[in-house]
Amino acid sequence: MTLSELQELERASVISSYARFPVEFVRGAGARLWDSEGNEYLDFLCGISVTNIGHCHPRVVEAVREQAARLMHASNLFYTEPAMRLAKRLSDCSLGGKVYFANSGAEANEAALKLARKAKQAGDFVVVHGAFHGRTYGALSATPQESKQAPFAPLVPGFRVVAPEPQALYEAVDERTAAVVLEPIQGESGVNVLSEEALQAARAACDEHGAALIFDEIQCGMGRTGTLWAYEQTEVVPDAITLAKALGGGLPIGALVTGERLADVFAPGDHGSTFAGGPVVAAAALAALQLTDDPQLLARVREQGLRLAAGLQSLPHVLSVRGRGLMLACELDVPAPEVVRCALLQQRLVVNATGPTTVRLLPPLTIGQAEIDDALRRLGVALGSVSAP
Ligand code: PLP
Repeated sequence: MTLSELQELERASVISSYARFPVEFVRGAGARLWDSEGNEYLDFLCGISVTNIGHCHPRVVEAVREQAARLMHASNLFYTEPAMRLAKRLSDCSLGGKVYFANSGAEANEAALKLARKAKQAGDFVVVHGAFHGRTYGALSATPQESKQAPFAPLVPGFRVVAPEPQALYEAVDERTAAVVLEPIQGESGVNVLSEEALQAARAACDEHGAALIFDEIQCGMGRTGTLWAYEQTEVVPDAITLAKALGGGLPIGALVTGERLADVFAPGDHGSTFAGGPVVAAAALAALQLTDDPQLLARVREQGLRLAAGLQSLPHVLSVRGRGLMLACELDVPAPEVVRCALLQQRLVVNATGPTTVRLLPPLTIGQAEIDDALRRLGVALGSVSAP
C-alpha cells in the first residue's frame, strides 16, 4: 500500500486523534528507522522514550519469540512465570516493595491514585503545573493542561494544582492529602527538571501528613537520565514509582512499584486488568530491564548526554539546553514544529517539538558518538533552513 492509500484509509476509518507526519515506518534496528520508500532515519525520539535500548533489540526479540510460541495469555486468574520474575526484579532494583502491572503509563498512574487513596482511606491529590500523567480520567485530572482537560470536563474532583516549587508543594499538603504525584523531570511539557528543594519539600510534607509521594518515572525512568531511575540522582526516595514506555523494550506494559509502606494496600478485587503483566510483555520487559540495569550503559548515558547537550548548545538558533542524561530539550528562537518537520522530511532525523519553540531529544541509550555527531549535523542543517518568525 502506498502512503497516500494509507492516508485515505485513515481519513475514512480512523478516529481522528493524532496529527501524523507523512511517513510510514516499516523497519527499525538500533538507532535507525526505515520508511516504506527505503529512506533511512536516525531516531532521536525512540517512539517517545520507548525503544531506549534501540529498535528490535535481538535479546528482546528472542524473549518475545520464545514466549509467544509457548504461551501468550492465560489471565491473572493464574500464575505465569515471567510476571512473577519481573515483579521480583523490579522491586529488587528500586523501592523494595511490591508491583502492580498495567498496560500503559496512564493505567499505571490510575493504579497509583487508587492505591494512595485507599491507603489514606480518603483524600485529595497534589499535582504540579506542567505535569503530564496520561489521558484516562484519573490521569487526565492529574494533568493540569487546559487544552487537554477542557473538552472533557467535568474531571475527577480532588486534584489540587500548585507550582513545582518548594514552598508551594510544602504548603499544599495537609491531613486530607492522599498523595503528591509528580514527574521528577517533566517530559511532555518540555523536559523541566524539578529542583532538589522541591522534591525534598514534597517528601517532608508527605512525611508530616501521612501522604504518599509518588514519582511518575514513565518517561524519565528506565535509564533515560543516566541512572536506572531518576530519583536515584536526588536525595529523595518516593513511596512508589510508576513505569511504562521503555519498560517493555517496545511492547506495552506499565507498572506501579511500591516501597514497603504501600506494598500491601490492595487486596484481591481492588484493581485489575485482563492483559496486564501478560507473559509475552513481561518476558520482553525482563530482557529490557536486564539490558538497561547495566552500570556501564548508564555511565555512557551520562557521558553521551553531556556530549549531546554541549553539541546542541553550539547549534544556530539554540538559546538554551536543559535536561539530564539523554533526556534533553533545547529552546529555540525559531519555530520548533518547522524545525522538527524539516529534520524529519529533509534530514531524516526524528525528534519532536513539545512546544512552539522547544525541541525534545530522546535518543537510544545505546547511542554512539558518531551517531550523536551525525544527528547534530542534521539538526544544524534543519535549524539553518528555518527562518525566524
Ligand atoms: N506519564 C508520563 C510522564 C508520560 O510521559 C506519559 C506519556 O507520555 C504518560 C504518563 C502516559 O503514558 P501512556 O501514553 O502509556 O498512557
